[in-house]
Amino acid sequence: MSDTTVRVRFAPSPTGPLHMGGVRTALYNYLFAKKNKGTFILRIEDTDQGRYVPGAEDYIINALNWCGLSPDESPVNPGKYGPYRQSERKQMYRQYADLLIEKGFAYYAFDTPQELENMRDLAKKAKMPNWQYNVISRNSMKNSLTLSEDETQKKLANGDPYTIRIKMPRNEDVRFYDEIRGWVIVNTNNMDDKVIFKGDGMPTYHLANVVDDYNMKISHVIRGEEWLPSAPLHVLLYKYLGWEQEMPKFAHLPLILKPDGNGKLSKRDGDRLGFPVFPLQWKDPSSNEVSSGYREKGYFHEAFINMLAFLGWNPGDSKELFSIEELIEAFSLERVGKSGAKFDPDKTKWFNQQYLRAKSNSELTKLLMSTHQINADVAYIEKVVSLMKERASFINELLLDDYFFNAPTDYDQKTLRKKWKANTPANMQLLKSKLSLLTDFSAESIEAEFKAYLSENELGMGAALPNFRLLVTGKGMGPSMFQIAALLGKKEVISRFDNGLLKIAAIKEETSI
Ligand code: GLU
Repeated sequence: MSDTTVRVRFAPSPTGPLHMGGVRTALYNYLFAKKNKGTFILRIEDTDQGRYVPGAEDYIINALNWCGLSPDESPVNPGKYGPYRQSERKQMYRQYADLLIEKGFAYYAFDTPQELENMRDLAKKAKMPNWQYNVISRNSMKNSLTLSEDETQKKLANGDPYTIRIKMPRNEDVRFYDEIRGWVIVNTNNMDDKVIFKGDGMPTYHLANVVDDYNMKISHVIRGEEWLPSAPLHVLLYKYLGWEQEMPKFAHLPLILKPDGNGKLSKRDGDRLGFPVFPLQWKDPSSNEVSSGYREKGYFHEAFINMLAFLGWNPGDSKELFSIEELIEAFSLERVGKSGAKFDPDKTKWFNQQYLRAKSNSELTKLLMSTHQINADVAYIEKVVSLMKERASFINELLLDDYFFNAPTDYDQKTLRKKWKANTPANMQLLKSKLSLLTDFSAESIEAEFKAYLSENELGMGAALPNFRLLVTGKGMGPSMFQIAALLGKKEVISRFDNGLLKIAAIKEETSI
């Protein structure tokens, strides 16, 4: 492998939907690969059959595609380092576990789950709650280090269940350089004899991860901070397998924190505070519980990605809006921080709003027409879009106001209570007759006519405009009334005056508003 060949992998386990933290990891891998003219790989880490969730792999692939982070090599688009699912690489791992045993860096452990449980219980009683299988305790366990060679061979020949554990050396410093955190040094006395190969014939994450990264010629391992404690073990495995020269560089990304900064962002926070934590909607196959997704909430994938890029990285100046090409250009691991990044749901909306505003009216109209059944012509929708755009954060909000399509059937209570006075009906009749005489029903001439009406009748804008809006739209707020009126046209506006005056009179009579 030449030093300049960048090959990075995103290696999720298909144990459920991809959390947005996972998408951030994929994004940084993608940006790093593209920036360095390298290869972005998706590897599915499905060695833990007990945690496999049907549909999760498809979800991961669909989510990456929606985000525009399509892998260059993946299970569905294999390159020459396949297979890209660990379950399909099963037969590759055993030889390395055997090699480690042969070299004295690993051993067979025959302890049953029950025996391990008993040890933990005993330790708990002796006020040592975190019992570990390690350099000390392994001496009192049932393994190929405590049993004679004969006994071990007998057990193996007998088909007794076993696992293979790494044999942690006593009191050695494991050191490696993390591209984000600098030097990391961990003493092996603080590390346990992790299982690297299981009784079911599958490697554990640790062995599979190292073997695959080596065989797939991965140059940089960019992953979440939760894997930092595993990294010293991985470094030892590279050493023991004789692959030190080929060991990838490591970069452990900062955590994504809850909006208040207190701990890691979880699905529960999303449920509690009302934002999605998954890119796409997910239906749990066993409980049928549905979790919302950014896509279904109406986020543009560009906005979602732009927001995610800033959770842990910044460009070093005040620019916030980045296309994916600009992100590729600006991204570097040096500008990824060590400390956790707080997720900000409001800022996430803000990003979407910026992307919405940046799209042309015709583009937004096309999008709307492709996703909604709308009974109006394109030119009309485009005008509605132009009026609503500045007030919306999501594309769905562009058509939120039904009055563009139908006369109001109810009227904003607050405006009715605060602004609709005894003399309002008469004043509105006057406005109606003025408007009905207009030949040019453009926003400008409606506005001029309205202002003339105000001064002729000595009325204030604050008293008259809300009632005008109420009659035509039924609402207390909205975009420019003159533009709305112009768009609806004279006939419709006059008819809404007539209707509204009647309906409001009835409401006023019926209720005490
Ligand atoms: N399978 C691990 C995960 O689910 C991958 C960690 C790594 O990138 O090494 O995140």
